[in-house]
Amino acid sequence: MLTTAANTVVSVYVRKKDREELLFAKERAEESDRLKSAFLDNISHEIRTPMNSIFGFISLLQNPNLTNIERNEYIHIVKEGGERLLNTIRDIVDISEVEAKQVFVELSKIDINELVLTIISLYKSDAEAKGLTINNSALVSHDSAQVKTDKNKVYSILSNIIKNAIKYTSIGYIEIGVERNLSDIVLYVKDTGIGIPVEKQQVIFDRFVQVDSSKTRLYEGSGLGLSIAKAYVEMLGGKIWLNSELNKGSTFYIQIPVSD
Ligand code: ADP
Repeated sequence: MLTTAANTVVSVYVRKKDREELLFAKERAEESDRLKSAFLDNISHEIRTPMNSIFGFISLLQNPNLTNIERNEYIHIVKEGGERLLNTIRDIVDISEVEAKQVFVELSKIDINELVLTIISLYKSDAEAKGLTINNSALVSHDSAQVKTDKNKVYSILSNIIKNAIKYTSIGYIEIGVERNLSDIVLYVKDTGIGIPVEKQQVIFDRFVQVDSSKTRLYEGSGLGLSIAKAYVEMLGGKIWLNSELNKGSTFYIQIPVSD
């Protein structure tokens, strides 16, 4: 039997625990609310902006007196708007599949050097259009390059990170490399871009988090790319991290366990 004093101590303790749990639940509900608002703000911005430019420039294209140069420029803008919409839709579908646990790992033997070189060649024109160079800084020996992993996921992880490197860099270069250890590979993507403030370096992997989330933000994007990349890396049993310095650049590292 507890004494009255002990009973009081226990009930104060329980009340304190209840309060802590309630506070925790309240904070989680608020965080989830903030995420929902961020989702709506972000996605509606990412759908409306290209839609407005598509409709606007299609109207302008109806003018029969346009010069060829003007017509080509407007067609280019409409195409860019379409691509931006498609990217947003792809990101939403990818993250929804992750949430619904409908993404599965499919292992096959690949040549990791070949994958890195293919991705570089795919993004070369985007980088060069901004005056950036994009190169591989390290590859592994032919034998070490043969690894068993999920090709599509590695492709998608690297693509998301390289797209960001190009987007957030205006002068300099992007460097992509791969290292092989006994039971894993480490891929890295280095850029000389705007960098990421220390206090944001962890949260950018959360859904919809962007360093600049203002309505007037300079860079387009759904805020989903890194959370998709992180989900895929973790599905493969790996890790993703970064080093970054503001106004100097960022390096993203991806470590993935592989077998021969
Ligand atoms: P977004 O669609 O906004 O690019 P991501 O999930 O891919 O979404 O990235 C989240 C945020 O992380 C970006 O909005 C940006 O603020 C920051 N970020 C990602 N990659 C880089 C990079 N290479 N350099 C600077 N900032 C970056």
